[in-house]
Amino acid sequence: MMQQVKILDGGFSTQLATHVNDTIDGDPLWTARFLVTNPEAIVATHLDFLKAGADIILTNSYQASIDGFSKYMNMTEEESLNLFSKSVEYAKEAVNLFKKDVKNLKNVSENPLIAGSIGPYGACLHDGSEYTGKYCSLVTEEILMDWHRPRIRQLIASGVDLLAIETIPCKKEAEALVKLLKEFPNIKAWLSFSCRNDGENIADGSNFQNVAMQCYKEALQGQILAVGMNCIAPQNVSPLLRGINANNKQEIVPLVVYPNSGETYTVETGWMKTNDSCSLNQFIHEWLNLGVRYIGGCCRTHAEDVVKIRAEVQNWKCA
Ligand SMILES: [Zn+2]
Repeated sequence: MMQQVKILDGGFSTQLATHVNDTIDGDPLWTARFLVTNPEAIVATHLDFLKAGADIILTNSYQASIDGFSKYMNMTEEESLNLFSKSVEYAKEAVNLFKKDVKNLKNVSENPLIAGSIGPYGACLHDGSEYTGKYCSLVTEEILMDWHRPRIRQLIASGVDLLAIETIPCKKEAEALVKLLKEFPNIKAWLSFSCRNDGENIADGSNFQNVAMQCYKEALQGQILAVGMNCIAPQNVSPLLRGINANNKQEIVPLVVYPNSGETYTVETGWMKTNDSCSLNQFIHEWLNLGVRYIGGCCRTHAEDVVKIRAEVQNWKCA
């Protein structure tokens, strides 16, 4: 039986920028600051994605951390953890608003889920290291587990339906997270990596398929919903995925993909279009054929992109 495909949301910061005047990129807390300064914009951003047809929305907690809130907003640990709960609360608020209106909307999810976003340790260093993984040789598995544990615990306690573990650049951190998830056996998660553009490796140079499959197998049975990658240029996705499900007919390894728009980001110039940026829509059927069952967008994708992704997925089912 064909497993159902779930539509994710798009780039939270990208859509959030349509609701606020402040600069988002370049802030060490990134979108997490808005949990304090502009909750209305967060709810409005989630609502945009729900109305666009997302089956799963991700909480605005990717770059949130106890150290970050303490360093940049002078908060106590308790206050910081409370913001993780807020991130879930705002997503729930958006779902409630959406449900009141759902009868008037076409082509949307009837019962959207909330995934708690867990970004890598490197995202909170604010030096782009979630795209290199260079910090991983400097920290132990135990440090990584201790750092992620309170965030995961808080998101679960606040009532997320699942976890979106995202943009993980190194093998050590992926393994630490799989181990940590065993402390929370009732929650399911997807594990999404930050990958190089070489069609083969995650950011730290480890082979994607080896690491992903090892994590998938080492996890508690059924705890990892999918493995895959996010925030990658669309044209670089398929080479990483090809082969995983080549011989699996009955039961596939479910894959998760939410690429960026293909534009590139540098600290100096911000997001720039490059000549070879491809639209992610042109690859959707190819990815579904490779076993992708969770699909959405990351940076520089808007709610309109979610509408297009949903339409492409529906075309594929009809084929
Ligand atoms: Zn991204």
